[in-house]
Amino acid sequence: MARYTGPVCRLCRRDGTKLFLKGAKCFSEKCPVEKRNFPPGQHGQSKKVKKVVGYGLQLREKQKAKRIYFTLETQFRAYYQKASNRTGVTGELLLQQLETRLDNVAYRLGFAMSRRQARQVVRHGHLQVNGRKVNIPSFQCKVGDEISIREGSKALVILEESKNFAAGQRSVPWLDINRDNLSGKLVALPKREDIQLPVNEQLIVELYSK
Ligand code: SF4
Repeated sequence: MARYTGPVCRLCRRDGTKLFLKGAKCFSEKCPVEKRNFPPGQHGQSKKVKKVVGYGLQLREKQKAKRIYFTLETQFRAYYQKASNRTGVTGELLLQQLETRLDNVAYRLGFAMSRRQARQVVRHGHLQVNGRKVNIPSFQCKVGDEISIREGSKALVILEESKNFAAGQRSVPWLDINRDNLSGKLVALPKREDIQLPVNEQLIVELYSK
């Protein structure tokens, strides 16, 4: 699956908000949104900031969500299609699917300091779901699934760093996390209030349902 490999801080600056794509740096004063809060590019600083409304606003919200979860357009639209075919609030169902992707669950469990890093942890085969190795970042986790770091990977330095980082983050009510054992269980599907993101999913639904 293709993925964005360019500079990620640029994406936050483009949206004018922190998307928390880089782990510890996002919480430090080195964050470019703090230091240079204007759009990237040669003319970013001199451009007049226009008020974004209507379609532009809907588009920006969709771009933000895509960037936070590192998905590309086709995959993101497929998530929307699935959500809109199900019974319930489409926006919430969309976010629920994104949250229960294996790379995001790994990030929430504290196996990585950012979703991008979590994606790498998954791709490199360090994770198992219900005792079986899974290396697909978009793998959809279900309630009851047990996600853990494989025995041979538990000594990775990155995991120790991530554990310390995650200890300072918000708790995740839909996951039962065992930090010492580097494992966790999905005990419920995330509700909207559990997903603390700077995204208005309703605008995304409006955009796609045109
Ligand atoms: Fe975004 Fe984090 Fe980079 Fe700041 S440090 S611009 S929040 S990715």
